[in-house]
Amino acid sequence: MKEFGYERAFDVSGALALLDADSGARYLGGGTNLVDLMKAGVERPTRLVDVRELPLDRIEAADGGGLRIGATVTNSDLAAHPEVRRNYPALTQAVLAGASGQLRNMATVGGNLLQRTRCGYFTDVTKPCNKRVPGSGCPAIEGEHHNHAILGASGHCAAVHPSDMGVALTAFDAVVSYETADGPGELPLTDFYVPVGDTPHLETALPPGALITGITLPPAPVAAFSRYRKVRERASYAFAIGSIAVALDVRDGVVHDVRLAFGAVASRPWRARAAEAVLTGAPADGETFAAAADAELADAEPLPHNGYKVALMRNLVVAVLTELAEEAAR
Ligand SMILES: Cc1cc2nc3c(=O)[nH]c(=O)nc-3n(C[C@H](O)[C@H](O)[C@H](O)COP(=O)(O)OP(=O)(O)OC[C@H]3O[C@@H](n4cnc5c(N)ncnc54)[C@H](O)[C@@H]3O)c2cc1C
Ligand code: SF4
Repeated sequence: MKEFGYERAFDVSGALALLDADSGARYLGGGTNLVDLMKAGVERPTRLVDVRELPLDRIEAADGGGLRIGATVTNSDLAAHPEVRRNYPALTQAVLAGASGQLRNMATVGGNLLQRTRCGYFTDVTKPCNKRVPGSGCPAIEGEHHNHAILGASGHCAAVHPSDMGVALTAFDAVVSYETADGPGELPLTDFYVPVGDTPHLETALPPGALITGITLPPAPVAAFSRYRKVRERASYAFAIGSIAVALDVRDGVVHDVRLAFGAVASRPWRARAAEAVLTGAPADGETFAAAADAELADAEPLPHNGYKVALMRNLVVAVLTELAEEAAR
């Protein structure tokens, strides 16, 4: 591993100043992704600015309702928080579906959103990869891509975003707050990740050097009736091959409100707006659920070895909506 400096920041302005002073510096959350990538030679920071002592480790009521989650809250603390479990159960389920207990104790909310793809070519510095080295090529398109994107990919990159947490946050319209040397900013999670296009190395709309300070979950009564379902290749900890966050409010047999997001199918957590449009105001039955899935997946463009994800996601949508509708009818 290349030599690097290490500093611990104790306040936000100090963290920003440390990053500003060294263009090769990077923030360090739990280190569960960044340090692995440093060992592999994918990331080569000159300095790590450890943010875990920043006063950003609280979960509290947000102004106007909802929750404000600090960027250094650990995945374990987020999943266990009583308000999250009660009002946004799919978020607890998504976090608990990710990684192992030990990793969740270290990993932070800010770091989870910025974790990099698990595409094997990205992490293998002996191979070309447009995301790691712009313009070098994408061997996954012709090679190993069974877990790659079916929605919103480009000929330059078909990698998927690996975060489970991000899928539930996307379904619940979470907003990311950040600080820069020029002042604070906010990005709805749906705008936080930028489309892959021909610049797969540019993943988010965060300004350079920005420190994520927290996430706001707006109040959403429907989120109390929500579920996260993850399909993976083995039962012990593994990344998703497809996942779904669903919240459903059914009244008199009709869908009154619904939130739907997909994971492991695109370069970012995928808000399923076309499906939501079909569902809203329609009878809460299998026919509607299948039509909603088909509407969202109509634009799917699978590669030769990941077409199974279209059927997998269709089945997930119908199964989880059916479960939630049956529970609402009881
Ligand atoms: C074996 C294994 C299995 C895993 N399985 C899953 C899984 O199934 N699902 C899943 O979702 N995840 C999984 N993960 C990934 C894990 O969730 C991430 O590694 C973790 O969430 C990253 O958080 P961190 O705080 O450790 O980030 P770090 O590794 O510290 O940082 C990640 C990135 O975020 C940046 N960063 C960190 N904090 C901030 C901040 N406040 N502001 C700006 N930038 C910041 C860093 O500079 C770095 O670029 C797995 C990881 C491992 C090792
Ligand atoms: S899919 Fe993306 S991350 Fe994977 S090799 Fe291609 S460019 Fe790199």
